[in-house]
Amino acid sequence: MNQPVIIVHGGAWHIPSPLREAHREGCRRAALTGWDVLAAGGAALDAVEAAVRVLEDDPTYDAGRGSHCNLQGEVELDALIMDGRTLELGSVAAVKRVRHPITLARRIMESGEHAFVVGAGAEAWAEALGVPLCDPADLLAPSPAVAGDDWTPPGMRLPADTVGAVALDLAGNLAVGTSTGGTPNKRPGRVGDTPLVGCGAYADNATGAAAATGWGERLMRLVLSKSACELLAQGEAPQAVAERLIRQLEQRVAGYGGLIIVDRQGRVGLAHNTPHLSFAIVRPGPEVLAGIEFPTAESETHRPSPAS
Ligand code: ASP
Repeated sequence: MNQPVIIVHGGAWHIPSPLREAHREGCRRAALTGWDVLAAGGAALDAVEAAVRVLEDDPTYDAGRGSHCNLQGEVELDALIMDGRTLELGSVAAVKRVRHPITLARRIMESGEHAFVVGAGAEAWAEALGVPLCDPADLLAPSPAVAGDDWTPPGMRLPADTVGAVALDLAGNLAVGTSTGGTPNKRPGRVGDTPLVGCGAYADNATGAAAATGWGERLMRLVLSKSACELLAQGEAPQAVAERLIRQLEQRVAGYGGLIIVDRQGRVGLAHNTPHLSFAIVRPGPEVLAGIEFPTAESETHRPSPAS
């Protein structure tokens, strides 16, 4: 019998002090929602969807309601869900009228017809798939003030509050889900790593599940989540994999972000080279660990310190 586990994250950047508690607590709440599914013997897929929906409802994060607007003042949402048991996936990008893109991604996956659908086409299909459309205004929520954020690597758009979840269930199945409004003031139609399979997320029962967050244009160059699963397949421990890939992100492509991993044995890995990564981990007990900074062996050497 497996020991279930869920990890959620709420983005990697420098979270200004007044926003830290909301980031920590939102992750805790989402992870516990997913945990309830796992503890009742539910599927990892249901757990990640439930956890991501909580984060999409929380305006603290850049997903669902409260997402960052593009240059035209509109919210455009991306999401991806993947089932490690079957390797089926569903993905959606640049939708403007969907309150829970993670659920639309799941319905697309379950349709068996397509895997990745974008924009107006995805919205046109949503209702037939059982996902109601919303008024775009419902997605607008006052964005938390980010004044005082003085850590911005050149080229990276902050804040970076994308959300993700990885889980292992009692039956040994792995799943991952991600959801984002993308980067603030992006060009209309811009899509980052989050809905791209292998980049923003990947799950395979044979190895593990991983979700990435941060500067999407850089993250996608390393196909970070699939790379994580491949390193797990070579026998590397999840924490070592997370740290190695985040180091590569910085050294190879001058990227910034974070990575969460759970392997098929339920071991976890988290790393980030931004000052913060909001996260929560729930294991049997339930034992809950929630925070905005995950200590790694090399955190002091490769994480840039925020200007103060
Ligand atoms: N990776 C996301 C994107 O580039 C942003 C984030 O993770 O916060 O769209």
